[in-house]
Amino acid sequence: MSERRAEISEIFSSIQGEGMLVGVRQVFVRLCGCNFACDYCDTEADLTAEFCRMEGTPGRRDFIQVENPLPLERLTCLLSGWQRGWPGIHHSISITGGEPLLHAALLQEWLPSLREFLPIYLETNGVLHKELAQVIDHIDHIGMDIKLPSTSGCKDLWQAHGEFLRIAAARKVFVKAVIGSNTEDWEVIRACEIIASVDDAIPLILQPLTSPEGRIDIPPLKMLELQETASGFLKEVRIIPQTHKFIGQL
Ligand code: SF4
Repeated sequence: MSERRAEISEIFSSIQGEGMLVGVRQVFVRLCGCNFACDYCDTEADLTAEFCRMEGTPGRRDFIQVENPLPLERLTCLLSGWQRGWPGIHHSISITGGEPLLHAALLQEWLPSLREFLPIYLETNGVLHKELAQVIDHIDHIGMDIKLPSTSGCKDLWQAHGEFLRIAAARKVFVKAVIGSNTEDWEVIRACEIIASVDDAIPLILQPLTSPEGRIDIPPLKMLELQETASGFLKEVRIIPQTHKFIGQL
């Protein structure tokens, strides 16, 4: 077993609310820290946290605080208890953040052990391609962002997203782009061109900005128009909001 320890903000069981795996039950392992500061972000940016919030019983929100950095053994012990007590309820482990690839060296070491329990799903902002190359052999599914300037406030990430997707395409991958009432056609077209240059069968999820209470402000017609635009480039374009927010899940 490894001696390496991770800065993890929380570990819990819930329903995946976004993207192509929407609706499946997952173990969420949320790593600390992010390399961006998106306008719509709802997670802490700190790379370290004094404590990890760890759920005792899957989905029952009986959290305890465990001191960071967490040893791998603490997580594998929790997972084996959940696998024994609640066999078959989880589809996969979501490695999320923040930006989990900031911890690529640690993931390279941890993921083979975690993957013995369940398939690994990586949720990433889709720019750290060198770090992805380090860990891709241990990953089953990838949900990556393409950050549109109108909603994220991030600019000029197109090339980095393209390089990332070329590596990610070795796994089951989909792209997620958050859209809002200010999103313009050219941004969606730019994202589609990047995806189509790798493989036009890679699904694109257009995710309407969703408030913490589950409210969506983008006009319904605007969603349809953006989907129509994207469908001119790609074989699979879906509109899926952050569903966990309106079904009371974390
Ligand atoms: S990439 Fe994700 S975690 Fe990082 S700032 Fe943006 S929304 Fe937040």
